[in-house]
Amino acid sequence: MASKEQSAFRPAIDVHTHLFPERLAAAIQRSLSNEAGWDFSTPTTPSEIEDVLRAAGITTYVALPYAHKPGVASEMNEWLINQTGSLNRLIPFATVHPDDEDVAPLVREAFEKGARGLKIHCPVQECRPADSRLEPALELAVEYDRPITYHGGTAPMFEDSPYVGVDLFIDLVNSYPELKVCCAHMGAYEVEEFLDLARDNANVYLDTTMAMSASAEETMGFDPSMIADETLVELSESIMYGTDFPNIPYPYRDERAELLARDLPRTAVRDIFYRTAAAYLGLDNRAAPEDS
Ligand SMILES: [Zn+2]
Repeated sequence: MASKEQSAFRPAIDVHTHLFPERLAAAIQRSLSNEAGWDFSTPTTPSEIEDVLRAAGITTYVALPYAHKPGVASEMNEWLINQTGSLNRLIPFATVHPDDEDVAPLVREAFEKGARGLKIHCPVQECRPADSRLEPALELAVEYDRPITYHGGTAPMFEDSPYVGVDLFIDLVNSYPELKVCCAHMGAYEVEEFLDLARDNANVYLDTTMAMSASAEETMGFDPSMIADETLVELSESIMYGTDFPNIPYPYRDERAELLARDLPRTAVRDIFYRTAAAYLGLDNRAAPEDS
C-alpha cells in the first residue's frame, strides 16, 4: 500500500470482525468454503488475527459473536470477553439468542463483564430486529447505553427471509429511538433506503463491511460505486469501516482499497475509518491514538 494511503487509513477502528475458539473458527471457514466456494488465506487464531489487524493500522477492533441456537450465548460471551486479557486492541460485543431462557440476566452479565454492545444476526437467529423475545436485551442496551450491530439487510442471500429488510429496521428505530443501532453491510441490498434512514436518525449507523470492498461485486453482488462520494461525505458521521475479517476470501487490504481510492476529504476519511466508530462505541473521541 502506498504511504499516502497508509497515512489516510491510520489509525483506524474496524467495527466488524469475528473471533471464535479455533475449532469453531475453522469450521465456519469450512462451511463458507462449501456454501460460497470461497478460498481463505486468512488466519483463524485470535492472536494471528490481531497481528494482521495491528500491522494494517487498526488500533481497535470489535469482535461480533453470534449464537445460532439457544443455550450457547453465555459461554461464547465469556470466552470472547476473556480474550481481552491477551488481545489489547479487542472490544468484545455479546450475543444472545431470542430463545434463550434468561435473556435479561445473560445480557446484563455480559455488559457488566465488559461487552461493549450486542450483535444480533436476524436471518441466522430467525428474529426480527425488534422481536418481542429480544425486548429485555434491547431495554438493557438502552439502560447501559450500549450499541447493537445487526445483520438486518437482505444481502447476501436473505432476500426471502422474513426477518430482514428496511421496513423491519424502521420498526426497530421507531420502537427504540434512543438506542444506537448499526445495520451491517451498508444495509445491502436496500442501500438507498438504509442511507435515508441514517440521514434521518442520528442513532442509526451503517458499516461498510464487504459492501464497500474492492471485491464486493464478486462476493456480494453489490457495486460500491453505486454510493457516490458526496453521499459518503454527507453521511460520514453515520458510516463506519468494518470488514468481516477473517471470514473474507481476499486479503485485508482489499476491504479498504475501494474507499481509499476515492478522493474524499480528510475529515470524511477520518470519520469513516475512526471517529464515527469511536462515537458509536462510546470511546473517547477527542484524541485518536497514535499508531504504534
Ligand atoms: Zn460479519
